[in-house]
Amino acid sequence: MDRPPPCLYCGERYGPDDVARHTEPVHCERCITCAGKPACYDCRLMYCVCDVHRYRG
Ligand SMILES: [Zn+2]
Ligand SMILES: [Zn+2]
Ligand SMILES: [Zn+2]
Repeated sequence: MDRPPPCLYCGERYGPDDVARHTEPVHCERCITCAGKPACYDCRLMYCVCDVHRYRG
């Protein structure tokens, strides 16, 4: 079977339904650390202002 490797950013083994969330870059452009990362990425930067990537731990 042709299963994708675990996600580079979150380590999750995602299925076909979640491919976009883990591979499609989000151009948030408000934070240099997470700009261009897919939606599953958690930005650990303390002052990240990004709505998509800000870490909610
Ligand atoms: Zn991911
Ligand atoms: Zn971001
Ligand atoms: Zn960020």
